[in-house]
This record gives sequence, C-alpha cells and structure tokens, in this order.
Amino acid sequence: MKIYIAYTGGTIGMAPSDHGLIPDAAFALELTKRLEALPELEHEFVVNSYETLIDSSNATPKDWAMIARDIESKWQEYDAFIVLHGTDTMAYTAAALTNMFMSCTKPIIVTGSQVPLYQARSDAMNNVLGAISACEEKIKGVFLFFAGLLIEGDRARKTHTGDWQAFSSPNLPEYGVLGIDWKWRDSRFSNMLKKPPMKMRIPDMAEDAVTILPVFPSVQAEHWQGLLNENVKGAVLLSYGAGNAPDKNADLLSLLKTATDRGVVVVNVSQCGAGNVVAGAYAAGSALVAAGVTSGRDMTYEAAFAKLHFFIGLGFSSREIRGIFDR
Ligand code: ASP
Repeated sequence: MKIYIAYTGGTIGMAPSDHGLIPDAAFALELTKRLEALPELEHEFVVNSYETLIDSSNATPKDWAMIARDIESKWQEYDAFIVLHGTDTMAYTAAALTNMFMSCTKPIIVTGSQVPLYQARSDAMNNVLGAISACEEKIKGVFLFFAGLLIEGDRARKTHTGDWQAFSSPNLPEYGVLGIDWKWRDSRFSNMLKKPPMKMRIPDMAEDAVTILPVFPSVQAEHWQGLLNENVKGAVLLSYGAGNAPDKNADLLSLLKTATDRGVVVVNVSQCGAGNVVAGAYAAGSALVAAGVTSGRDMTYEAAFAKLHFFIGLGFSSREIRGIFDR
C-alpha cells in the first residue's frame, strides 16, 4: 500500500522548549526511520510535516480545510491517509473531515498521542501502527484511532486528559477495537456495501460563522449577546439533560428566537456528553423548540459544530441546514 502520513502538529511530534512542548519538524524524519526499521510493514510511506506545525488548540476551520485539500491533492496517488494531529481538537477535525469526504472510498485515519514519540514511555508508535493496521483492513471512511479504538470521525470525543485512552465514542459502540486482532462492531461485509457516490467537498469556512452557547444556572441573555453577533450563522446550544434550558427567562428565549428568525441555525446538544436530546420531553425543552432551536439528537457538540461550519461554508440556507439536522 502507498500510505500518506501528514504531520499537522500535536504532542506526537513535539519536543521540549523553554515554554513547554512545541511541535518539532524533525519528527517526520524520525517517524520515517522508525517505520523503515519495521520491514514487515511492506508499505510505501511518505511522512510530510506541514510547514506551520501547530498545537491543535490553535486549529481553526481553515486548518480543517487545509488538511482536506492536502488529502484531495494526493487522492489518486495514495491508497490510504493518516493525519497526525493534536488530541485537544482532534475530534473536531475528524468530524470536519467526515463531512468533507462523505461516503469516502479510502481510509482516512486521524491519530496522535498522549506522550511525544521521543519519550521512552510514548504511545505514539502504538497509535501510528494501529492506524496503519486500520488502513491495511481497507476500511472506507474517516476514522479516529486511539489506544486500540477505531471510532467514526463524527462520533469521537476527547474524554480523558491523562489516560492512554483519551477518546471515546459516547453514543455508538466503536467501529473496531484492536487487540492482538481486530474486533469489528459490524460484519466486515457491511463496510464493503455500496454506498452513495463519494462527495469530496471542501468549502471555505468563515472562522466566525459558528459559536457555542453554554447553558448554566442563572445564564442571562447578556451572556449570549456577544456570542450571537451578526457574523454568526450557526450555534451549538449546550443544554441540560435531554435538551433543556431555563424556560422562565423570557429575555434569553427572545434572544434565541430573534437569532433563529434571522436565520441562525441553533442546534441543541446535551452537555451530558452521552445520550439523546429529546426535543419537547419537558416544558423547559419545548420552550427551545418554540424559539426555533433544532435538535442535535445524539451528536457530540464537536460533530454538530463541524457540521454547521461545513454546510454554512457550502452556502446552504438555514432551512436546508435545519432539514439536514432533522434527518
Ligand atoms: N495540546 C496538544 C495538542 O492538541 C495536546 C495533544 O496533542 O495531545 O496539540
């Protein structure tokens, strides 16, 4: 197989500096050497270090699009793609790539590590080798691989700062689990089934188009006013429980209604982190529905955020985007 590995930044390739760990361009060569030292991997690898390496806390939708364009430009040349990325916003990037490579016909695996490659007790090689193993299985689609778990790109979330297993898939069992061998959630045959034709769409996403609205005890309209400024076209509302927010705060609800009336798509996702938003199960949730809020059901907020950016970037109308979330 011909496998393209893009190093975008993140702990996996970081080295110490006076201010703490920073991404290191020398990592690409080091990883290449380590892969070449494993002759049983009969693949051709190209490890490319991006010109500007970042800690993924600095990543924006422009970075998602840059990674996607890089993969697009090499699509015919390679059989599989591995994106090495910081863990902090890996779930957002994986979700964004899932949208940009819909019904993807090759493996695109996003991974990274908790401890840099240069350190003795690093998880870097395990994660890279696991990602390579997923490519060898010829799975089709965008996935996040970490510490043995292979998770659909729009289902993952970083749930631990310090465990080797930093990611989980809160609302769907993992697609695959790698021990000595792979264990698959679905029959292997299902991944081979004919899907709709692949759609590679990489929109220009405005950095200020989507925001997040946190619900917390005594949240006031003033807290959200700035967040819902005129540039915003989409918002992920982090509600309580099964999709609730205070329904006794008329100013807050009227701020939301004004926003949805002017076309902002507000998607309701629970801050519980797992489970479903059941729109209207409680009066406190019905008030959100009346204010024009769309249910995000069991999506992670990372996935909802990336999806909003994607469809807003493509120029879809708010009605069309609400329809997509409703489906
Ligand atoms: N701050 C790092 C990053 O997201 C953390 C990591 O890679 O694990 O780039």
